Amino acid sequence: MQSLRGMRDILPGESARWQSLEARVARLMQRFAYREIRTPIAEPTELFKRGIGEDTDVVSKEMYTFDDRSGDSITLRPENTASVVRAALQHNLVARGAQEKVFYVGPMFRYERPQRGRYRQFHQIGAEALGIAGPQVEVELIALARRLFDEMTLLPHLTLEINTLGQPPERKQHRDALVEYFAAHRAELDEDSVKRLDNGNPLRILDSKNPALQDLIEGAPKLMDYLGEESEAHFAKVKAMLEEMGQPYVVNNRLVRGLDYYWHTVFEWTTNLLGSQGTVCGGGRYDGLFEQLGGKLIPAAGWGMGMERLLELAEEVGAFDDVPQVDVYLVASGERAEVVSAAVLDCIRSDNPSLNVASATEQVSFKAQFKRADKSGAQLALVLGDDEVSAGQISIKWLRDLRDPETVALSEISNWLSVNLATQNT
Ligand code: ATP
Ligand code: MG
Repeated sequence: MQSLRGMRDILPGESARWQSLEARVARLMQRFAYREIRTPIAEPTELFKRGIGEDTDVVSKEMYTFDDRSGDSITLRPENTASVVRAALQHNLVARGAQEKVFYVGPMFRYERPQRGRYRQFHQIGAEALGIAGPQVEVELIALARRLFDEMTLLPHLTLEINTLGQPPERKQHRDALVEYFAAHRAELDEDSVKRLDNGNPLRILDSKNPALQDLIEGAPKLMDYLGEESEAHFAKVKAMLEEMGQPYVVNNRLVRGLDYYWHTVFEWTTNLLGSQGTVCGGGRYDGLFEQLGGKLIPAAGWGMGMERLLELAEEVGAFDDVPQVDVYLVASGERAEVVSAAVLDCIRSDNPSLNVASATEQVSFKAQFKRADKSGAQLALVLGDDEVSAGQISIKWLRDLRDPETVALSEISNWLSVNLATQNT
């Protein structure tokens, strides 16, 4: 049996990197006062149709949708913003002017063509600031991602691209201009684009990755030319705040994001070290979403970040400092030693909670156990034979350097370890 195409196992050899990223994210979010939200992995299909938009690639081609046993249409979440907004509405998290800053970490599902940096089950970190208008929180969200990249030593490899999508009246004017423009070039459009044009969603055409359309898209009317004073001031403030922070950015007018609910500022963090899947993080302001999902108009902004791409980038630039997962390895051989080994291990683990302690836990030769001790990365082996047991002692053999072996009283071993061993986990 094989796993489903595009869905990968995270094996024991790589899970430490995931755990360390997750721990870093949890702590970072705490430092920014964002609290975790955990929503279900499956939602009513309608949530994504309404929240993301039926003309998006995500909804029209990429969702894992099926009927459950009572005939209700269910979808494995392709992203988590719609679910977060659904939860906020359902539980009144941002009613009457309240605000809530949340984050999430977890798997998402999209039926895409699997390739490097693109999987069918992938994982996202996300941050959402609900109930907050204005440019400041958009910049805070950018600063949050920037802190994560900086502390992972990835910041020099990432470019921040920003754009503004303005507000509904400006977008309507722009959309009308786009419809006119693309209608005049209808014969040059591909099938998807014609459909988007006919569905009144010409903005989606700008998002097309079809190389044959790029020149046409390049010549299309720009939203920038339709922005009113308020939208311009909003975007100017974002740029000024980024400049003050020393964060360089590129204004990319083609950046419309794949999803329908964005207003005002949108942004992406991209790298050129991951081939064509170079977008590590994308987000923006989505004031339209609460209303689209049946609530009042509530301002909100956020981003989603691909964890696989983030970890691939870290791997690419050698940002990992993998540390051995085992500190101490108990080697026990002999009838009596085997019997007491579990008690000795329990004692050591109870007295030294910061130590990672392993053992063979099966009857194999001393030699085989030492081989495993060496492979585990442990700094030292504790050796327990029947002779040691009768003498009430345990031997220490350093595995990573030439220090002399020594012998310690069994009753003293926990104390000896805490004095003599530097651990990874304190
Ligand atoms: P792309 O243009 O790469 O398809 P997107 O616009 O569809 O990205 P979002 O919906 O904004 O992506 O998701 C946020 C982030 O999640 C992306 O920037 C990317 O890092 C990651 N991501 C999206 N789809 C996948 C996937 N199929 N496999 C792995 N990571 C993904
Ligand atoms: Mg996509």
